Amino acid sequence: MKKGFIIAGNWKMNKTVKEAVEFVNWLENNIEFNDMVEVLIFPPFVSLYELSKIVKNVKIGSQNMYFEENGAFTGEISPVMLKGIVDYVLIGHSERRNIFNESNELLNKKLKSAISHGFKTVFCVGEKLEERESGNTEKVIKEQIIKGFEGIDKKDIENVVIAYEPVWAIGTGKTATPQQAQEVHEFIRELLVSYFDLNGENYILYGGSVKPENSNDLLSMKDIDGALIGGASLKTRSFSDIIHNSYKILNP
Ligand code: PEP
Repeated sequence: MKKGFIIAGNWKMNKTVKEAVEFVNWLENNIEFNDMVEVLIFPPFVSLYELSKIVKNVKIGSQNMYFEENGAFTGEISPVMLKGIVDYVLIGHSERRNIFNESNELLNKKLKSAISHGFKTVFCVGEKLEERESGNTEKVIKEQIIKGFEGIDKKDIENVVIAYEPVWAIGTGKTATPQQAQEVHEFIRELLVSYFDLNGENYILYGGSVKPENSNDLLSMKDIDGALIGGASLKTRSFSDIIHNSYKILNP
């Protein structure tokens, strides 16, 4: 039995404030919201404040956040600034890890800071193609999770949403097969139980070229509790189709 889904859109560096407002207004007026499916969007920073004033059912999150509260950190946004505006903070997206060289140690500080400031968090992990091909997927994921969660209380880790996003599947059109994704999701869930002594109930989202044509097969897998969607979250039609399709899995 599925406990519900989180369907999240990561807009990356796309959409002006006007476009973001139009999109979210469209969602608010056209989606049939359902208590078991949380609809979440990660827009660019500049749109967050405007969106916070219009959202009713849609949750919003920040794509990034620095761990300090204020100071000489040019270009960064702090937890104090995001407070009251966003519900969620996204931490460790592969583009942050790989383009902006964010290390497991830095991401651990960001995760701790976001949790201590009361945000819900989505923490991303995922292997690169060469890591998968050399048989190191589980080793990489394990290290990202153990280092990312180091020093965080068990009760707080229980509330972290994890997004498994194989780097080779992000924005490439290559989706992990439902079986490939399920294997890693199961590995993550078991790791949370064996290493952190958790109850294994964390939401674990899959991300990597999710679209309406493949979302049903992925979301039907036992350990997949939702999706983190890039490209297909930029169009109202594809994003809303994924949301509405997910209802059919919960109520076949
Ligand atoms: C993402 O940005 O997290 C992502 C999964 O992108 P896409 O769906 O475009 O592969």
